[in-house]
Amino acid sequence: MRAIRRFTVRPVLPEVLKPLGDLARNLRWSWHADTEDLFRSVDPELWASSGGDPIRLLADVPAERLQTLSGDKKFLKNLRGVQADLADYLSGDLWYQGWAAEHPAAPRGIGYFSPEFGITEVLPQYSGGLGILAGDHLKTASDLGVPIIGVGLLYRQGYFRQSLNAAGWQQERYPLLDPNALPVTLLHDADGPVRIEVPLGGRTLHAQVWLAQVGRVPLLLLDSDVEANAGPERETTDRLYGGGTDHRLAQEVLLGIGGVRAIRAYCRVTGAPAPEVFHTNEGHAGFLGVERIREYMNDGLDFDTALERCRAGTVFTTHTPVPAGIDRFPHALVVDQFASFDAVPLDRVLALGSEDYEGGDPGMFNMAVMGFRLGQRANGVSVLHGEVSRGMFQGLWSAFDTTEVPIGSITNGVHHYSWVHPRLLELLEAPSGSTSPSVVDGYDWNRLAAVPSRTIWSLKRTMREELVAMTRTRLTESSLGRGLGAEWVDEVLDPDVVTFGFARRVPSYKRLTLMLREPERLKALLTDPDRPIQIVIAGKSHPADEGGKALIQQMVQFADDPAVRHRIVFLPDYDISMAKPLYPGCDVWMNNPLRPYEACGTSGMKAALNGAANLSIRDGWWDEWYDPAFGWEIPSAEGVDDPDQRDDLEARALYDIIENEIVPRFYDVDGDGIPERWVQMIRDTVAGLGPKVLASRMVRDYVTQLYGPAAASTHAVESSDGGAEALAQWKRRVRGAWEGVKVDHVESLDGDQLEVGAKLHVSALVRLGELSPNDIEVQLVTGRLDTDDQLREPRVNPFPTGTDMGDGLRRYEGWVEAKRSGAIGYTVRVVPHHPQLANQAEMGLATLPADSPTPPSAISA
Ligand SMILES: *Cc1c(COP(=O)(O)O)cnc(C)c1O
Repeated sequence: MRAIRRFTVRPVLPEVLKPLGDLARNLRWSWHADTEDLFRSVDPELWASSGGDPIRLLADVPAERLQTLSGDKKFLKNLRGVQADLADYLSGDLWYQGWAAEHPAAPRGIGYFSPEFGITEVLPQYSGGLGILAGDHLKTASDLGVPIIGVGLLYRQGYFRQSLNAAGWQQERYPLLDPNALPVTLLHDADGPVRIEVPLGGRTLHAQVWLAQVGRVPLLLLDSDVEANAGPERETTDRLYGGGTDHRLAQEVLLGIGGVRAIRAYCRVTGAPAPEVFHTNEGHAGFLGVERIREYMNDGLDFDTALERCRAGTVFTTHTPVPAGIDRFPHALVVDQFASFDAVPLDRVLALGSEDYEGGDPGMFNMAVMGFRLGQRANGVSVLHGEVSRGMFQGLWSAFDTTEVPIGSITNGVHHYSWVHPRLLELLEAPSGSTSPSVVDGYDWNRLAAVPSRTIWSLKRTMREELVAMTRTRLTESSLGRGLGAEWVDEVLDPDVVTFGFARRVPSYKRLTLMLREPERLKALLTDPDRPIQIVIAGKSHPADEGGKALIQQMVQFADDPAVRHRIVFLPDYDISMAKPLYPGCDVWMNNPLRPYEACGTSGMKAALNGAANLSIRDGWWDEWYDPAFGWEIPSAEGVDDPDQRDDLEARALYDIIENEIVPRFYDVDGDGIPERWVQMIRDTVAGLGPKVLASRMVRDYVTQLYGPAAASTHAVESSDGGAEALAQWKRRVRGAWEGVKVDHVESLDGDQLEVGAKLHVSALVRLGELSPNDIEVQLVTGRLDTDDQLREPRVNPFPTGTDMGDGLRRYEGWVEAKRSGAIGYTVRVVPHHPQLANQAEMGLATLPADSPTPPSAISA
């Protein structure tokens, strides 16, 4: 019998227990051990059976138990303590308040948009790294007091739940989520629930807005499942990354355009200050810029002025170096969507995402490209990824060298309160008042130096035991589900065996099955009678990726073999609840992507914070912070074009390291059974990587390098003396007149030999056409020369102002010192110059001497 209507009966808590409801609705409990402990103590069994979900716990706890607790003095005391702690946490001055006091332009609000947020397993609105990162960003912003408002979608079926069939093939389930049973509340104003409307290809899409409270940070989640939506629009927010291209476009329109409208509603209802900075976490939310342009145009600004306003306050973070991972739409779909979007001209919207560069596809609308055009500031997520992104998107700034492409990098980080084992975190607590330089965010990352090896090793064993227990529980369920029986599961894993972790999504570049390259060799490692290894593997494949599912099956079938199944397991349904015991339980975290396709990778960071060594290809963050004290690098065979041969080489190196380095070191124990050299690696890893991989380092970097400057730009373009309008007019004028800019003549008074330390004098005659000297900068650009006379890693030295020679010509003279010996080249370049440009490449315009696309002169110094 199918119900025609559903409703949720909310529990009624006795008056003295009412604060439990508030604690359950603020997700800070998910990273605050005392609050979690309090909920556990309400009813330990129910806590476990609810999957650690306070909302479910409170809904199911029997009235008699509540009655008992109402009179339980100890419980009430704990409750008051935790309640007071949350009140303090929500109201006190934190890092950001101090920073803002010293930076008058500090933003009063920042909108952070992401298609997924991984905060806790009880709010399953994430698929993998992007979402976990967004969750850690919000939690950390809360811990630091950064005034972020998160914006996303509430998917009624979240991402899929994974199981396996008997043959090891991935099965997907989409259990329906009831928002009333989630830790979210509907955003209301005086007239009832707030409604957002968004034009969707000529129709209107309606949405309601759920509010999840992430500590101090509100997270707004738009939901299309409302009666006002007739037809298919209602299904817009059904699944994360589900459906075809139309569906994805509808979701992104709701996220970007609806998201800005949701923020406006939230600020209206709560009085929160309007954000001055908007951060697009990956391209999916990029339409937020188009909506902001529409807002400004409705206020009477022209498109160009509105664009400048939008750009000044927009930050775009790109997350993938895999070309197929870039979000693109057929032109026609975007035409359909924006044909009548108030006064915003369609051709201008289309131009924002157009791939009008060499190798681009004129039929596609590219969300990453739009991200760069709508955001004055952009970044990748590790140093290497920044570099790869500059190469990937150089077509947008083709007049500039790759190193000058204005995409920076901020390396990702992880939220220590969420990911470090609570007992290890306790060990790391800094004595109050400590001023040691290794103390960061309340923890002394070098503290293990003073902790006896025996204590560290016994804690690590406990962590391994917890992983073993979790593995057996999950494996029993999975194995029974597959009809394989489970009596053997009690023998699976051993808390005294060196434990490898390998968990991630399963796109092909991550090479789930590289370790199976030589199955016999892996088998020998797993079944060594004296010094075996064991491996825990997990990961979901996108439902449409048959190739990924085949890899999972291959892995599962290998692990099903009775000869090895006690030492290698594939655990289905990787999520936060599995990840939390997984990282601490591992001794080695393995990662073998095809370099350089892993933009950053964060799981190795989480493992390192728990004292695990990394065994990884030097990709993403590991390229930046690799050190033999923290683990091993698997040499990358990037030069080898044949993919099979490359896999062979890299797999062989992987086995070699495990056999020759890892196993001997782990099992090299002293008389007390302690592997001193291994324990030292735990100490070094936590001390050396701890402070670097923290999300607090990342969020501070975002504040100081991107949000702060973006807010300053926002204020500048909003200034009363023209601001954005003047900037837009200036850009128009400069673009229009740029053809008239010429470098007529360049000469050097020196010969073509110089000694190190000598000065190279250069003078240039520059024709400005209709522009004035203030509109431009003339630069002497020097650099190493490669074989075809291209300048590499150019260094830029602006010339002094120059002198008027009449006839529209100006003479610029300057010099640079020859700093290094070898073949050095130089050229003269003219670029636009304006105080409100964030960098010299912003407009993509540069003029070189006409007769020399390559440097006019090469000198040996
Ligand atoms: C950390 C984490 C990820 C992301 O791992 P990457 O190494 O960044 O790919 C995905 N899923 C879960 C559950 C995680 O905890």
